[in-house]
Amino acid sequence: MILAAKIFFGTAFLAGAFLGGPLLAAPAQAAGCGDGALGVARVVQVGTPPGQSLAVGLKSYPRTLALKDREVVLTFDDGPLPATTTKILDALAAQCVKATFFLVGRNAQANPKLARRIVAEGHTIAHHTFSHQILRNISESRAREEIEKGFRADEAAAFGSGGPPHGSRFFRYPGFADTPELNAWLATQGAVVFGADVWASDWVKMTPQEELELVLKRLEASKGGILLMHDIKAQTAAMLPELLGELKRRGYAIVHLVPGDAPPPLRDAPPGWSSETQKFLQAPASSRATPAPPADLARRPARESP
Ligand SMILES: [Zn+2]
Repeated sequence: MILAAKIFFGTAFLAGAFLGGPLLAAPAQAAGCGDGALGVARVVQVGTPPGQSLAVGLKSYPRTLALKDREVVLTFDDGPLPATTTKILDALAAQCVKATFFLVGRNAQANPKLARRIVAEGHTIAHHTFSHQILRNISESRAREEIEKGFRADEAAAFGSGGPPHGSRFFRYPGFADTPELNAWLATQGAVVFGADVWASDWVKMTPQEELELVLKRLEASKGGILLMHDIKAQTAAMLPELLGELKRRGYAIVHLVPGDAPPPLRDAPPGWSSETQKFLQAPASSRATPAPPADLARRPARESP
């Protein structure tokens, strides 16, 4: 009976029961994975009432989710694309972990089966505009259209057209390029703006092993947080199975974010905080949205944009 209950509820329920905090038991999540898998430690609902802004992620904003030490939220931007997103989903499924996918609308529109697979496998659908334009470069009205078109395309691909949103109202700006006006408007839409706490910097070309070591080094330094990767990057798809295995070995726990009605517990940035994204967003237009190669990557590659 005890064994049956453990199999039924899986490690997600058991780990969450001891950790406390916002938790939705998800009986099916760990089925078939067993204790050797990373699994989901707890599920956190994230939302904001219309009109109340919420923006999280210390790379861009002075607050983030109040995660416990060594808790990690997995997020992927820019997909779905068949060649790489398929491998990402396979790796997540093998470890029974759930992630949040910030879809580019035109990619979702072109790959609806993949968008539906993301939903079917229990991940959270989030949004990243329709065509990945840098919204600071276009008028506010065009930027709103680009965001709304992205919401609609993602929803239609993942859930079918019409009705209220089935996915989340989670939104991340392409190139992290927000504006105060768009942030205020997104608040009226009940959207939650996501930066990130930890970058994989996978917009920089490096080997899967280099990326793995970089991500692990950064997670050790930050003690976890919202991790940003890209499911359109072959190097990320190649290193993800090893990363998830290593997170398990090192005692990290995965937190799955799902849509909710209210903000979850938050924590403020430490004193002396400054926006890392703002530094390169304020660079001249010729190098706009082009962060410097990571200083903690041993081999310095050429610059690329996120
Ligand atoms: Zn992007």
